[in-house]
Amino acid sequence: MHIAMIGAGYVGLVSATCFADFGHDVVCVDKDPNRLNTLRGGKIPIYEPGLEELVKSNAEAGRLHFSDDVGSATGRADIVFLAVGTPSRHGDGYADLTFVYEAAREIAPHLSDFTVVVTKSTVPVGTGDEVERIIRDVNPAAQCAVVSNPEFLREGSAIEDFKKPDRIIIGTDDQRAQSIMEEVYGPLCANEAPILFTGRRTAELTKYASNAFLAMKITFINEMADLCERVGADVLSVARGMGMDARIGDRFLQAGPGYGGSCFPKDSTALTNMAQDSDSPLRLVETTVAINDQRRRAMARKVIRACGGRVRGRRIGILGLTFKPDTDDMREAPSIPIIRTLLDAGAIIRAYDPAAVAGANNTLREIEICPDPYAAAEGAAALAVITDWDEFSSLDLDRLRRQMDPASTVLVDLRNMFDPARITGAGFVYEAVGRGDLI
Ligand code: NAD
Repeated sequence: MHIAMIGAGYVGLVSATCFADFGHDVVCVDKDPNRLNTLRGGKIPIYEPGLEELVKSNAEAGRLHFSDDVGSATGRADIVFLAVGTPSRHGDGYADLTFVYEAAREIAPHLSDFTVVVTKSTVPVGTGDEVERIIRDVNPAAQCAVVSNPEFLREGSAIEDFKKPDRIIIGTDDQRAQSIMEEVYGPLCANEAPILFTGRRTAELTKYASNAFLAMKITFINEMADLCERVGADVLSVARGMGMDARIGDRFLQAGPGYGGSCFPKDSTALTNMAQDSDSPLRLVETTVAINDQRRRAMARKVIRACGGRVRGRRIGILGLTFKPDTDDMREAPSIPIIRTLLDAGAIIRAYDPAAVAGANNTLREIEICPDPYAAAEGAAALAVITDWDEFSSLDLDRLRRQMDPASTVLVDLRNMFDPARITGAGFVYEAVGRGDLI
């Protein structure tokens, strides 16, 4: 099949590459000339394990192309995917649909034979109706079906998630569109990936409902962690015990500094706004958003408390800046509000992250980005682990401690990634999340 993918970001680039790897002919279109130059030069503009090799092999095989020419990519396509960003709108938290509608306007004049237009971006209910209206408005003769096919991949394991999804949701009532979608996902159906066909609005809502539920699950265990600290219980065991119940499941029950990233925060807020506007408020999700917002600053206060209540003029070393490991994405990373709170309290911040150097330099100009964890620990009164990158588990703890201010060797592990006995055995004062059993 001929596919046009509009947007070469995390979702667009991964989807385009995987579709090409299934044997389809894919043109990935982006507006950003730097992004296109990087891709054409055989490099990828994001950090995603395994993606560079897959882009390279499919580009070399002639199945994956990069272009800024939306017209020719759309003109020859059986399917056009819209995979552009839907960020939070400044000021009110609604999903900003400018990029989606602009892309719809751009492809519309070039739709010739029957084409399936698929919204892969996460969009509020009714967006598909508006995309269809825009296309009809610009090109009344266009023969197309507008379908919703939300994406569930996770950064850091995006290729695996795309190729082995828990489910593929396809929202359309159009029979022709259904069979084309089945064909495009054919190789996955052969792997027995379940396809759920729904109405378009239902598919749009399913994506938001899934993200909000996961955000709620994380927030639930985070509050439980706070309670554990007050009552002398261990959140790790509570989560393990809960997760053994198949009705609950053990995933997304890791207590930490609050959820972040390019999806959960913006999607939860967009969903609560949409629900309010529909006179059907989602109070659980509203509360989840409020708790998570407060949590990040609370985590900074935890670090300050661990330093004896005063950080003015003192160095704090930060390990990990991205919103989770194996990505360079800094969007809505918990590290940002945590670091800002520490800066507000007068701390001097030195940080290390394996992937976020460029992102951190743009977002957190006031801090020093260090080349390794040991440099971040230099003279520090405390170290705070904000992202649980694998490489932190093999740190030379003696060397790390020797770099710090000898009067205060505090390690605040906001991801519970370390064995407490190992850390205290290496001479640190250890603070974790929800480990009331250690207090
Ligand atoms: P992104 O910001 O990384 O990428 C979007 C890309 O679209 C950019 O490269 C931009 O230049 C390009 N673009 C914008 N308008 C364009 C146009 N008219 N023509 C061509 N290119 C255009 O965004 P992302 O993280 O890939 O997210 C895309 C969508 O997928 C969002 O709705 C997001 O909520 C959703 N989503 C993201 C993830 C994730 O993990 N990042 C997972 C599931 C769903």
